[in-house]
Amino acid sequence: MIAPSPFSGGQFPRALFLTFAPLRGANARVARLRQAARLARTDLRREPVVRPDFLPRQSGVTRPLPGQKVGQLARYAIETIMKDIYLKLRPLTGTPKEELCNCKEIKEIYLAYKLGTNPVHCLQCNGEIPPEKLGYDIKTAESIASWNTVYGALYVLWLNSGEYEGWARERLLDRQGQVNKEGFELINSLDPFAKAYYLWFHENCDETEPSECPLCSAPLQPRKQRRFLLCEHCRILI
Ligand SMILES: [Zn+2]
Ligand SMILES: [Zn+2]
Repeated sequence: MIAPSPFSGGQFPRALFLTFAPLRGANARVARLRQAARLARTDLRREPVVRPDFLPRQSGVTRPLPGQKVGQLARYAIETIMKDIYLKLRPLTGTPKEELCNCKEIKEIYLAYKLGTNPVHCLQCNGEIPPEKLGYDIKTAESIASWNTVYGALYVLWLNSGEYEGWARERLLDRQGQVNKEGFELINSLDPFAKAYYLWFHENCDETEPSECPLCSAPLQPRKQRRFLLCEHCRILI
């Protein structure tokens, strides 16, 4: 079959149509883009949507006021995150208020992995202590975060009850093992802020309480109001 001539029958010349059709499409696209840009500019002008409940609550950075523009919020959020030396200890979803330490004065603390990101707890109320409440430096914060990650990895392997359970248990019970040595070093680093203890790993299979310290064999002292047993000499809790 022979294709009809583009010039036949008095119709709009096909060659011209093919030349101008894409141009008309391109013009329409440009117009749509221009309109979108205009709308975006208008939307940006209309968008002072900083909500007070959306703002993170870290200290040290000037908070934008509700009603300021989104760009300012983004800048504020990035600045806040970059300046936060305790970032690695911040829980991803936030610790519930009732699980945070609410003591006015913190006298005794303990280091314990509790499946979260911040292992520093108050011995008085058992709550997690937000880092700024003690105010330790960035080096200590990094060491705490690192210890927590390693201890957590071993703990999860033990908890998983699979191939690695026995190996992980031995690591957690090894007083000369890396994770415990680093844990005790952290207790020393935290001591200037509050008297610090270390929660020693204890597998409570038959639900009997140990009577002796697993490290020095001295009698363990029950802790009033809390379920912990304590060895003052070794600075451990069980
Ligand atoms: Zn407390
Ligand atoms: Zn002891």
